[in-house]
Amino acid sequence: MSTKPTNVEEIKKELIAKMPTKVARKRAKSILPGTEMGEPIPEIQSNVRTIPGIITQRGCTYAGCKGVVLGPSRDIVNLTHGPIGCGFYSWLTRRNQTEAGPDGENFIPYSFSTDMTEHDIVFGGEKKLRAAIKEAYDTFHPKAISIFSTCPVGLIGDDIHAVARTMQEELGITIFANSCEGYKGVSQSAGHHIANNQIMKHVIGTDDDTKIEGKFKVNMLGEYNIGGDAFEIERILEKCGFTLVATFSGNSTVQDFRVAHNADLNTVMCHRSLNYVAEMMETKFGIPWIKVNFIGAEASAKSLRRMAAYFEDQELIDRVEAVIAEELVAVNKVVEEIKPRTAGKTAMLFVGGSRAHHYQELFKELDMKILGAGYEFAHRDDYEGRHVLPNIKVDADSRNIEELEILPDPERYKPRKTEAEMARLNEKGVDFKGYEGMIEGMGKNAMVIDDINHYETEKLLEIYKPDIFCAGIKEKFIVQKMGIPLKQLHNYDMGGPYAGFNGAINWYRDIDRMVNTKVWALIKAPWQSTGPELEATYVA
Ligand code: SF4
Repeated sequence: MSTKPTNVEEIKKELIAKMPTKVARKRAKSILPGTEMGEPIPEIQSNVRTIPGIITQRGCTYAGCKGVVLGPSRDIVNLTHGPIGCGFYSWLTRRNQTEAGPDGENFIPYSFSTDMTEHDIVFGGEKKLRAAIKEAYDTFHPKAISIFSTCPVGLIGDDIHAVARTMQEELGITIFANSCEGYKGVSQSAGHHIANNQIMKHVIGTDDDTKIEGKFKVNMLGEYNIGGDAFEIERILEKCGFTLVATFSGNSTVQDFRVAHNADLNTVMCHRSLNYVAEMMETKFGIPWIKVNFIGAEASAKSLRRMAAYFEDQELIDRVEAVIAEELVAVNKVVEEIKPRTAGKTAMLFVGGSRAHHYQELFKELDMKILGAGYEFAHRDDYEGRHVLPNIKVDADSRNIEELEILPDPERYKPRKTEAEMARLNEKGVDFKGYEGMIEGMGKNAMVIDDINHYETEKLLEIYKPDIFCAGIKEKFIVQKMGIPLKQLHNYDMGGPYAGFNGAINWYRDIDRMVNTKVWALIKAPWQSTGPELEATYVA
């Protein structure tokens, strides 16, 4: 079993000791210990500018907008307006699974780009953008086209929104644009916000004619079907009797978004990327939202119970209980088999904006200990809980991200529950708009680090020597060369699903294999421990 350090403050000092004074001062505000349950949570510095040259894990606004939120829709042509790099490197590298469905439409295997050249930078790229939209339309006849700006587009002043408007009139399909130039904000996070705004403005609730049949209608916000996670969640929801109107946006279609305002409850998986739509839909249509987590068998059961409680229907509540009981049989069998091999082992998670929290549940189910966790681009509310929202100051780097002013829809605003009903449900544990954040309950010996960099990662590994480290592809091979297995929590190392009950079983087995493989003991060649058997001497 690994050594468990006890003094987080000492380790923090070591992490920043070699940094220039100004950098050390800044980094110190983004590193703190976890807290015990119910204890006050100190403020963590997050969602601030990345320190130049520090080797961050972060990506850009375009990645958050196109790569994360809107990219996973299968029947929208997502057109990158920019030089070829942005579209090329984001081509099929995020594992959003799709199923073409009866209409057979699935543009996920493609990468659409205007492939800007020097000529477009000098004379402007609007003409090329118009031509690309027309070509995509003529070739694929999509129902919608979404345009994504990359860095140079904002600098040269292409008006992508005007192009979208004129092409929408000309072609008669939905065309909307996202000003998600990579330099906006400080990370992927700004791109999420931009995507939320544009989908709210141009797509959500634009079809009032199609009626959605079924009882207990819900949307799943912030679930991107990595490795088939959304398929597993869909299976469970259907088994329980919920009607899933739209998933934002794993395996989704533009039509799903158009009718999403028919749902009676929004459930939020990834709080960071989709909380804006959740809030806006509540204001505009009166749909309340709750936070859920389908990562972890216990967490899935808890989320299902909360969703069933919201609808206050005994038949649904009973069915949910029956499904949980049935599903947990297989889950518990695997946990019992594996836990003796994983109990007491240690893990660290530094990923994105939600998984570093969600996956702690799965590790706890294997009786593993969390030594540290942090996000690339989360905000204070994702760490400390939503109660800090009124105290968050938007700094100069994020002030250029538009805040939409949303008002109740004059005809379609329909509160799903009265104030009294909401209060009553709240008492029963249905926590509307609630998210407690990651830090609570992590314990004082755990390290919380925002926007971790390469140097801090190496230092942490030297000090803590965790049994497993969770991060992404950029960290994977560096960490493994240090003799520690790295589980990719963005692409699941091509595995998954890990959501829901079947996903939990997959996870237990994968983690067991990773922390118990003997390969790490073979890193040193035998002669490195015994010393050289034969040594040559140079003779002049
Ligand atoms: S930072 Fe700019 S150039 Fe790089 S991927 Fe993002 S949009 Fe493209």
